[in-house]
Amino acid sequence: MTTVVLFIIPLLALTRPDALSPELAQDPVRQSSVQETETASDDTPNQLRTVVLDAGHGGKDPGTHGRYAKEKAINLALILQLGRKIKNKHPNVRVIYTRSSDQFVDLYERGAIANRNRADLFISIHCNASPSSSQVNGTETYTLGLHKTQRNLDVARRENAVILQEKNYQQTYKGFDPNSPLATIMLANYQHAFMGSSINFAEKIERSFRHNAERKSNGVKQAGFIVLWKATMPSVLIETGYLTNPTEEDFLRSDEGQDEISTAIYKAFLQYKQEIEANE
Ligand SMILES: [Zn+2]
Repeated sequence: MTTVVLFIIPLLALTRPDALSPELAQDPVRQSSVQETETASDDTPNQLRTVVLDAGHGGKDPGTHGRYAKEKAINLALILQLGRKIKNKHPNVRVIYTRSSDQFVDLYERGAIANRNRADLFISIHCNASPSSSQVNGTETYTLGLHKTQRNLDVARRENAVILQEKNYQQTYKGFDPNSPLATIMLANYQHAFMGSSINFAEKIERSFRHNAERKSNGVKQAGFIVLWKATMPSVLIETGYLTNPTEEDFLRSDEGQDEISTAIYKAFLQYKQEIEANE
């Protein structure tokens, strides 16, 4: 492991964001520009105004699956419910979906939507899979960072693999190979400025899953997800449960289960919103 780390650090230092993607360099530096507008026009600078909700996969990319359920459909149902809950309680918060139907959206475009709309928070919802055992269950919330276990790396590689289905992915991602562990590790250095806020929100989500939805929480983890790499705001990717576990699949397919999961995420959102808005 030491050899790997020593080999990677120089790579991270040498690799500028625009070397991996020309688009990232063109993204506005959100923090500074937003602060300028806010101080000029608003006296509540820390207000959470815009949230981007991302239902993983869609269209030709079904994601993982259980006996009956397709991940893309569960993700969409959960994200739409979460969006409705936020809109109902907070009419002043702008809720933007990366997709609101069964539609294919490139991974880089999902983060770009959040950047263009100067979102204050990015939430990506997914379902997990364990190829080795139908017993594995529980929730996990990821932030962008260096994975600590092979399993976390495997989750990111599975979620990143969809870029192979995108047109021009070699140009878009500059030859990024989602099957290469090294390439995934290199992503981990981005999102650095938002790491603390992302982890804070992720911890609230996992706590809320335990307390409000009686889920088994596997905790907050880090790995190199392309969908988070493009976003220039606090961002999380939620694995809401394992479709390869029949009990969890049934829970995630049910109206009651979907309501419990989306309510638990909403409660974490509310807590996070109140916390940042109280910090003047
Ligand atoms: Zn997924």
